[in-house]
Amino acid sequence: MLKVEHIGIAVKSLETSIPVYEKLLNTPCYKQEAVASENVITAFFQTGENKIELLEATAAESAIARFLDKKGEGIHHIAFEVADIYAEMERLRSEGFVLLNETPKKGADNKLICFVHPKNTNGVLIEICQEIR
Ligand code: ZN
Repeated sequence: MLKVEHIGIAVKSLETSIPVYEKLLNTPCYKQEAVASENVITAFFQTGENKIELLEATAAESAIARFLDKKGEGIHHIAFEVADIYAEMERLRSEGFVLLNETPKKGADNKLICFVHPKNTNGVLIEICQEIR
């Protein structure tokens, strides 16, 4: 994997959390993007070569809504950039990791993404992502 691309943080409200993170990181939110398939709205901040992604649920069946119910606000996932998401998914599968989607799906920020089940990663939800070229 190439680097930590971003850290995803589940929030109840982007409206209240964006100004907090703009102040904390001293940089403006550069993009808000809805991902309809995931029932979330995302907000991105650039911090050096990494990003922070805030995630707000737009529906009760959203994974973010379920996460907030169970655990409350906080770090939701760590995303690693990969050069070839298909090859990386195959490698992870062969190592025994459980992937939460069979094929890469379209994520926010012009990415193909795949999630790795936290049961094999010490409770941490891992995302791998590849820039769509
Ligand atoms: Zn993410």
